[in-house]
Amino acid sequence: MHELSVTQNIIKISSEEALKHNASKVKEIRIKVGELSGLIPSCIQYYFDIASQGTPVEGALLNIEKIPIAISCSNCNYEGNIKEKSYNCPVCESYNVKIIRGNEFLIDSLEVD
Ligand SMILES: [Zn+2]
Repeated sequence: MHELSVTQNIIKISSEEALKHNASKVKEIRIKVGELSGLIPSCIQYYFDIASQGTPVEGALLNIEKIPIAISCSNCNYEGNIKEKSYNCPVCESYNVKIIRGNEFLIDSLEVD
């Protein structure tokens, strides 16, 4: 049910933005979702279609971009993406790493009419 509250948030924020810009219709909402956030884009879309009915964002296209996980290695100072399904450094294989990207969830932009 995590996606439902996230989706309600998207609708609330986007609707407020649309009103601020006197937009009658929101055509597209671009969202960035980190791979680590655990959010499933198809679930967000599903809830969006239901929960947006009667709001200014009803019928808007959800454009969900996945952000890959990136780490910073304390051992060799590598910074960047990791190999799929592994959480260690791809250069020196150390597990002494910090996650610097992949947890985010944000609304990138809105396209309005
Ligand atoms: Zn390393």
